[in-house]
Amino acid sequence: MASLGHLAERKAFEIAIRQAVRYVKKDGADKSQQMMKLVDLVKKLMGNTFTDEAYEKAKWLITSPESKWSRFFAKGFDEINENVLVISLLNMGYEAFFRGTKEVRRSRERLDCNVPWLILLDPTSACNLRCTGCWAAEYGHKLNLTYDEIDSIITQAKELGIHFFIYTGGEPLVRKKDVLALADKHNDCEFHIYTNGTLIDEPFCKEAQRLGNLSFGVSVEGFEETNDGRRGEGVYEKVMNAFDLMKQYGLIFGASCCYTKVNIPVITSDEFVTMLEDKGCRYAWYFHYMPVGNDADVSLLPTMEQREYMLYRVREIRKDRMLFTMDFQNDGEFVGGCIAGGRNYCHINSNGDVEPCVFIHYSNMNIREHSLAECLQQPLFQEYRNRQPFNKNLLRPCPMLENPQVLQEMVLRSGAHSTDLNSPESVEHQCEKCYQYARDWAPRADRIWNQKVHPEKRYENYKNWRPKTDPKDYYSNEDSLSPEDREDDAKAAVLVEAWKAEHPAQPDNGIASATPLS
Ligand code: SF4
Repeated sequence: MASLGHLAERKAFEIAIRQAVRYVKKDGADKSQQMMKLVDLVKKLMGNTFTDEAYEKAKWLITSPESKWSRFFAKGFDEINENVLVISLLNMGYEAFFRGTKEVRRSRERLDCNVPWLILLDPTSACNLRCTGCWAAEYGHKLNLTYDEIDSIITQAKELGIHFFIYTGGEPLVRKKDVLALADKHNDCEFHIYTNGTLIDEPFCKEAQRLGNLSFGVSVEGFEETNDGRRGEGVYEKVMNAFDLMKQYGLIFGASCCYTKVNIPVITSDEFVTMLEDKGCRYAWYFHYMPVGNDADVSLLPTMEQREYMLYRVREIRKDRMLFTMDFQNDGEFVGGCIAGGRNYCHINSNGDVEPCVFIHYSNMNIREHSLAECLQQPLFQEYRNRQPFNKNLLRPCPMLENPQVLQEMVLRSGAHSTDLNSPESVEHQCEKCYQYARDWAPRADRIWNQKVHPEKRYENYKNWRPKTDPKDYYSNEDSLSPEDREDDAKAAVLVEAWKAEHPAQPDNGIASATPLS
């Protein structure tokens, strides 16, 4: 239960945000002036979480005609419904970032374990589609978290400071009624829903607009032929209809794209990006295909050339187009590598198993038998905490895909069991599928990583975090350095020192501020 002080403070921020949003949305208003006021409000909320330079850079980014972000935010303010904007800013800015981050940090100290900033959970394993390579298909189609169980997870999470929840599945909107009722009850939390989009209709959009605390990531794998090839006939058309409806109701939504060897050319094409922009998407989440499960098709893994291409292409789209894009495998450097195991997030499947990540189907504990705090203290999560980051090269962040020996060790040492009830998979079998990929990617990833200085973030929530002292810490694994790299070390040391002298404050790379901080 929120205290009176908390409620009064929230109300004050709501009034301030609503006034600013109304003004920015007004025809003919000087949007850039008002957006700057919003940055000042954020500064007031976040205090010294960011440097003054970061706030000034943010102001420049959202007001300068040279920056795409000024047009991006102005378009957002024009098109997104007022209530959705206000409630989302309030829940993400005030509850999750401002209050939540501090509480999460306190909870970490108190419980001596990772406490995440967001929780992914699967209300159901049921889905009205059956897509190739979907991890959800591995769980089977019969499992559900009850309304009371989800309610209890959210209530416990809020006590730890967590105010951001993401529903995956299964198809969460098979449980539409419960999803809406929970968003209504926990109206101080933000809910992001990964959905196939086929169940989004007008009454649902109307309700989502009224509540204001729901946003959406709709799976789309390419144009009609590619998309329906994986997801089923007629799905593409339904997704386009869902985009149109959500745009009409001013909801916040984007695309969720799983990239494989097959669909990379399509989903990174200019035509595809233009289609998403025209449909009103604000973002596109690019997910690397993960070979999870006994029947996973390893041939869908991207080639090394494709993986490198994704790195540059997703950043290019982010820089130039009217979409915020993120590639969760290649953008690890902006969040300090792997965020799983409760460092920033964890996953609760529809059977109640609390897993480190949606892709890692091993666990020691179930939310039906243990409190959320106990589940976060489980041995597998402590293994994650003890070993993060899993690689100094954050282009190789994952304990499974790029460092499979690490996951194998962690699961065996922690005694975690497979959470795949249909076809339990041994960790050896799971990791075996990744070894060749990891070996092939390592030299290429190290070459790319070694090409530039990777400045230290002011705050990294690793258990064993310590300031970097050796210039080599800014590069990749020492044992992967070629003789030429080693010769360059002396020059690199000089560069790093010069860079540090010129940038005494925390550097702002333009997107770090958009990522979870806790
Ligand atoms: S376990 Fe792998 S896929 Fe999951 S968050 Fe960590 S790096 Fe990403």
